Amino acid sequence: MAPDWLRIKKALSVEADRGFENLQGNQYRFSEFMTLTFGESLKGGDDHQRRRWTKLAQDFVQYPDLTLKQRQGIVAIARRLVQELMLADEAPSQPPTPKLPKTTPLVEQPRSTYHLPLLDRPLKDHPQLKRKRNLDNLAKLGIYTVRDALFYYPRDHIDYARQVEIAQLTPGETVTVMGTIKSCRFFTSPKNKSLTIMDLRLRDRSGQIKLSRFFHGARFSNRGWQKKQEQLYRSGSLVAASGLVKINKYGSTLENPEIEVLDGPEGQIESLKVGRILPVYPLTEGISADLVRRVVLAALPTAAELDDPLPLNLQKDYELIPLPRAVQEIHYPPDHERLAQARRRLVFDEFFYLQLSFLRRRQQHKQAQQNAAVLMPTGELSDRFRTLLPFELTRAQQRVVSDILQDLQSSTPMNRLVQGDVGSGKTVVAVFAILAALQSGYQAALMAPTEVLAEQHYRKLVEWFNQLYLPVELLTGSTGVKKRREIHTQLDTGELPLLVGTHALIEDPVQFRKLGLVVIDEQHRFGVKQRSRLLAKGTSPHVLTMTATPIPRTLSLTLHGDLDVSQIDELPPGRQPIQTLVLSAKQRQQAYDLIRRELASDRQAYIIFPLIEESEKLDVRAAVKEHERLQETIFPEVQVGLLHGRMTATEKEDALRRFRDNETPIIVSTTVIEVGVDVSNATVMLIENAERFGLSQLHQLRGRVGRGTHQSHCLLMSSGKNPESKERLEVLAQSQDGFFIAEMDLRLRGPGEVLGTRQAGLADFALASLVEDQAVLLLARAAAEILLQDEPALQRYPKLQAELARRDRQFTGGGVLN
Ligand code: ADP
Ligand code: MG
Repeated sequence: MAPDWLRIKKALSVEADRGFENLQGNQYRFSEFMTLTFGESLKGGDDHQRRRWTKLAQDFVQYPDLTLKQRQGIVAIARRLVQELMLADEAPSQPPTPKLPKTTPLVEQPRSTYHLPLLDRPLKDHPQLKRKRNLDNLAKLGIYTVRDALFYYPRDHIDYARQVEIAQLTPGETVTVMGTIKSCRFFTSPKNKSLTIMDLRLRDRSGQIKLSRFFHGARFSNRGWQKKQEQLYRSGSLVAASGLVKINKYGSTLENPEIEVLDGPEGQIESLKVGRILPVYPLTEGISADLVRRVVLAALPTAAELDDPLPLNLQKDYELIPLPRAVQEIHYPPDHERLAQARRRLVFDEFFYLQLSFLRRRQQHKQAQQNAAVLMPTGELSDRFRTLLPFELTRAQQRVVSDILQDLQSSTPMNRLVQGDVGSGKTVVAVFAILAALQSGYQAALMAPTEVLAEQHYRKLVEWFNQLYLPVELLTGSTGVKKRREIHTQLDTGELPLLVGTHALIEDPVQFRKLGLVVIDEQHRFGVKQRSRLLAKGTSPHVLTMTATPIPRTLSLTLHGDLDVSQIDELPPGRQPIQTLVLSAKQRQQAYDLIRRELASDRQAYIIFPLIEESEKLDVRAAVKEHERLQETIFPEVQVGLLHGRMTATEKEDALRRFRDNETPIIVSTTVIEVGVDVSNATVMLIENAERFGLSQLHQLRGRVGRGTHQSHCLLMSSGKNPESKERLEVLAQSQDGFFIAEMDLRLRGPGEVLGTRQAGLADFALASLVEDQAVLLLARAAAEILLQDEPALQRYPKLQAELARRDRQFTGGGVLN
């Protein structure tokens, strides 16, 4: 099979975007994934390409030990090769190139691409760029073809029209000043050795200003690098600097200024800049702004060749400008109004195609699947369960149950996601769905991501199901052979109506007789593949997925746009809010005292650390070491348990069991504890280095306490000196509402961070912001819905179909490293 080029390409660009840190995916580190990829022998390609391919496999083995520069180099080489091979794959088949005799020295044989439209040609085959050097460097930015250059959007613009004199600066305004450089100086921050500061003094006829730029990381303390910068910012050069005006003790300055040399060694393009709004591109080491600008400029006329796939009536209805103009003006807008229009069109596109593809997927799903079981919403079992329940369902639970039961009565398979904050009572809701299946003569399966969770569900369900005289079994990795066989038989005969388990459920010999419903808890923990394997166990079972990770609607639409979503946005009554405190390192004693007090009343405590081993980069208190310290010097009177991700499954289970049984009243853990663990006697959650976690994740962690009737506490230790991080943590002290917290997290940190690499299914948007462009997102969603209603097959829109197919391949690149 041909390699999945898009996935590889995407992995490479994600790695580059994240600063070549050798990203951890669900399963593999980036370097491992690449080693595996290039380790497979290459089917196509020429001899030279095959040799480069194999060499890359070796390079990626070394990758973790290499310097940043070397990593960049390897990634750039890999990107180039992948791009070449991809183009060759897509090109119409050509007669095979004759094999070179073995004695011929290996020279790179350039493959002609002149049969391709200009848009799709590599930059080096662009008539105006042929002689341009350094084009290969652009591979680092993912730019190979003319089209890539067109769609390499600026991250910002400098507005030379909004030029202001230095003496006239007013705080709070975003402006551009132009002046000559008086001096440029580098020094290391006295407070932080890894921080390099560049001070630049500018002068115009009205006055002077000092600008500072900050560079984090050891490589910037390198004199060589600094010398190069000093050459760039030579005294006397004319520069333009733009940014937000701030006042500090030295007077006015610009915050994080964007600095452009206008007539320095690279400044021959000044005519471009006069009286214009200029694009500022995301750059990386070794690539000058000048190079990117020139390449984009050369590509710009080709934008006219872009065939706008968006139907005209749609462009009119939603007041969108044509694509070629949008692409041209996102780079070089004549004014701000036009820039906003260009941006709006392109943001619309990003959302629109994603939504269209989600909705189509949903549609196809429903069509392709066989009829699902039509289930009875009410019946003897659910009636009896209602009377058994010791509590009333909350209104939110009732609403969600009724959504689900509605779905289950249709022969179109349900595909619904239930989002509900920790403790909102998702399990009961799932039981109503399960009972609907059972009382209609079907079987059900409930899958949880870990043994601990599966076992917890099982315990609760056994309790309820005993009273309903229904058998239920648990199947996990540690189920014995004999039991396992028994379960298999009972499933096959249909005797066993409900099976709870981990991914052991999807292992092959498990055969259901009549599987009508699959419930998946903490769905984001499972890969798409695992989910679909479980689904394959029945003929189109209904699917209910549940997640405790509250996601704002915008994220939800962009992440699960193909699912129906219900929210349990209300907690059962009588929950005591968890008292949450943000503490500084100095107040650690206070935290320990509180734990001691709770232990004295026979309660239990969690102590959480972000990482398990001291790493050089992050001076994090490591769980393993801290466990030792806590046990020996702080809490010698009790047993302190330890749980982290590098323990074997059995060790983990054991540690959790001992905590649950209060053999170890304290457990020190990494975030492996995060999901769903339920020990109602635990009343303290102490989180160290809380500033390193996202708010939603902290909220999840906090949800481990407050599950019983006792007042619970969450202590957020923040060693960060940064006032912003403290402020961020205060959101938690003030709110217990997971959706509100998620929304704040999204605003404060952006979607990538909120979802983490675990949820890499989120499409990358080049321009769109899930925070600022919510209105456009909703428009795009509506537009996609209307279009598909009229024309489910998109037959009248071949261009749209083609564009969708092209983008679809990119979107499915999600979860790249898995
Ligand atoms: P989660 O949504 O986090 O999975 P659970 O389903 O584990 O929450 O429910 C948390 C606790 O709340 C359980 O002990 C459950 O029995 C209880 N519970 C669920 N619904 C209600 C309700 N409507 N009223 C009172 N308690 C409830
Ligand atoms: Mg749960």
